[in-house]
Amino acid sequence: MTTVVMKFGGTSVATPEKIIEVAKRAIAEKEKGNRVVIVVSAMGKTTDTLLELAAEISPEPPKREMDMLLATGEQVTISLLAMAFRSLGEKALSFTGWQAGIETEAVPRNARIEQIHTERLEQALSEGFCCVVAGFQGVDATGNITTLGRGSSDTTAVALAAALGAAKCEIFTDVDGVYTADPRYIQGARKLQQISYDEMLELANLGAGVLHPRAVEFAKNNQTPLWVRPSFSDAPGTVIQEMITVEKNLIVRGVACEKGIARVSVRYEKPFNGSLARIFTALAEEGIDVDIIVQSISQETPPSVSFSIKEDQAMQVYRVLDQQQAEIGFTARDVEKGLAKVSIVGSGMISNPGVAAKMFDILRMEDIPVHMVSTSEIKVSVVVPEGKMTDAANALHAGFGLI
Ligand code: ADP
Ligand code: ASP
Ligand code: MG
Repeated sequence: MTTVVMKFGGTSVATPEKIIEVAKRAIAEKEKGNRVVIVVSAMGKTTDTLLELAAEISPEPPKREMDMLLATGEQVTISLLAMAFRSLGEKALSFTGWQAGIETEAVPRNARIEQIHTERLEQALSEGFCCVVAGFQGVDATGNITTLGRGSSDTTAVALAAALGAAKCEIFTDVDGVYTADPRYIQGARKLQQISYDEMLELANLGAGVLHPRAVEFAKNNQTPLWVRPSFSDAPGTVIQEMITVEKNLIVRGVACEKGIARVSVRYEKPFNGSLARIFTALAEEGIDVDIIVQSISQETPPSVSFSIKEDQAMQVYRVLDQQQAEIGFTARDVEKGLAKVSIVGSGMISNPGVAAKMFDILRMEDIPVHMVSTSEIKVSVVVPEGKMTDAANALHAGFGLI
């Protein structure tokens, strides 16, 4: 029998009525002769509400307890959905992350799945139950509940699909597929029929919130056919796969944006050997994600290095730098907040020189200053003032013919 994994996000399970709709949709899939696993998120904005609740108790709550708290959101949905199945006359069982055998590393709030012990799910499936699994959570080797990062119910679904050898994994959400850019902000964003794993991975990493990046990574590594589909209609959505067969000649396939970026600059009086390694080792040890790095060494000006981080980690970065000022040997540091990253992504860039030049030209014509740049074979990212992010994304989206 074929196994199918279906995942429904927060807005798709926001009310009891919607939960009943989800159960009906899954039952229709089972009636086609499939074994069905359903992964769900917390209802509506529950996770945000839980975060606010914790903030009322403590400004920096223990991460272990945060995981314990946040995991409750998904637990509410799985129990209600299993009840909905029963009320519709269908056999179903709910499973938390640990009950579903999802073992993770011991990293609270952002754990990676290490392995999945599928025996319990396999047993339930073979007995004809629909399995309802809580997304976003697992358990570490010592038995602590862990969570996998915001938006990571997608990852639970794709990882389960891979572990169970599912024929496909469908991510049902509040849009009808993957668009050329976030349709909430970009006029004329267009639904894509297909997108490659590599392009989707870049877009997801660069801020396209429609899929969690690790979900795409799992799908690519296991060659799992992955679909993003609307939960509000039967439309086919977008397929994410290794090679695409339509619109192959598009150089840029999508535009992604991310707010809340800051640029930290560290200045020296004279060159300081080994200093770069020290800075980034110290930041890595604190779990701070550094994105774009630009070093400037010239005869005329004192050496400096700038790097971009998430704005909310700025205080932490200052603390790490100041604690190690003597070893790092810098004389001044400052931070510029209120920035955003706008990126263009497309596999066609590899063989088309001049894409970055065209990007800068489009931004220049719109009077948008570029603070930092980073490129790879299939993307170019620029850091711009946050107030200009949407203008920049719209201009690039239109300028590269995505409308
Ligand atoms: P869910 O709760 O179902 O997981 P999310 O809010 O995480 O839903 O993801 C869906 C949202 O992703 C959409 O409402 C859309 O605004 C946003 N989004 C960002 N970039 C894209 C894109 N390129 N294509 C489609 N949606 C996108
Ligand atoms: N409920 C979690 C969140 O809001 C996980 C998810 O929805 O994917 O981030
Ligand atoms: Mg999501």
